[in-house]
Amino acid sequence: MQLILLGAPGSGKGTQAKLIVQQHGWLHLSTGDVLRKNVADGTPLGAKAKPLMESGQYVPDDLINAMVEDQLDRPEGRGGVVFDGYPRTINQAQALDALLERKGRPVQLVLHLEINPEALIARLSGRRVCTGCGAPYHTVSMPPLKEGVCDACGSPLMQRKDDSEETVRTRLEVYQKQTAPLLDYYAAQGKLRAVDAAEGVEKTFEGIQAVLAG
Ligand code: AMP
Repeated sequence: MQLILLGAPGSGKGTQAKLIVQQHGWLHLSTGDVLRKNVADGTPLGAKAKPLMESGQYVPDDLINAMVEDQLDRPEGRGGVVFDGYPRTINQAQALDALLERKGRPVQLVLHLEINPEALIARLSGRRVCTGCGAPYHTVSMPPLKEGVCDACGSPLMQRKDDSEETVRTRLEVYQKQTAPLLDYYAAQGKLRAVDAAEGVEKTFEGIQAVLAG
């Protein structure tokens, strides 16, 4: 299975991708996570990406496409891949189509996690992430048992720098301009299915499971 999760920042792509791979054992390919690791490790790619990420702009397509090609060689990807936060531009979608065609395993399904833009700002400002294992939390909808501490590994939680309100607005604008056109791109291929992502983590996951089962 080659499955793409499409949706605005804060629509829950990362959380849902983790639930899907837990159930199916596929590879979770989050370009945002790979970039954040490069920033943390101080690689040349991380140095280029850091200022763009912090201001809510996209990292150039050629860097992202090369990074994804690299990740797809990992053995965990053999059973299936959930693409989270990629592709984000038409150029990336075309590059991914070409790459997966070459590998003989084209994109099968694109799930659009739908949620209205006003809800996104509230969601993103409450978002927290574990500094140790990357587990996602939310101060209101998914709080940890002990405030500021990860349930899974005990490491402190942090707020991503790009979840500040000003950067969130930029990210939503960039999404509308550069990523929303992908909805038409995949609809034209007959691969797009909508899932209501407004009702919380469990309901959204039920919607995804229904599409995957159907
Ligand atoms: P995310 O965790 O998916 O929200 O990504 C965080 C940031 O990483 C984005 O705001 C972009 O700056 C960068 N990024 C992640 N994925 C991509 C991508 N596919 N294309 C361009 N930039 C990306």
